[in-house]
Amino acid sequence: MSAPVNDCLFCKIVAGEIPGQIVHTTERSIAFRDINPQAPTHVLVVPREHHENVGELGAADPAGLADLVAAAGEVARLEGLAGYRLIFNTGRAGGQTVFHAHGHVLGGKNLDEHLA
Ligand code: AMP
Ligand code: ZN
Repeated sequence: MSAPVNDCLFCKIVAGEIPGQIVHTTERSIAFRDINPQAPTHVLVVPREHHENVGELGAADPAGLADLVAAAGEVARLEGLAGYRLIFNTGRAGGQTVFHAHGHVLGGKNLDEHLA
């Protein structure tokens, strides 16, 4: 069990110390709207426990990672998305700015033109 980390933004949202626009919760994960949306639907899904990134989450708590991915699918269903992208920026060089594992659920417009 990882304790909340001081000064971790997403630990504070999980604890209710900072407000989040929560759209879905499970026993292990919570999902809330990104404050700076990059698509019509942009929701972050985070484990309630603090893990620095998705790889560390998967290594330390495989069931927690599975719960997060399932929660992302449920968010997409609740948002009425025909399809979505689930992104995990990892490390500063990978674009990660908040070091509490989180998946970005992006959808609501055609994303296919961005696929390589
Ligand atoms: P990343 O760059 O992958 O670490 O993603 C961090 C995300 O957190 C960014 O998309 C930010 O817009 C988002 N964000 C930062 N602060 C908040 C907040 N207080 N509530 C919701 N989303 C936030
Ligand atoms: Zn945290």
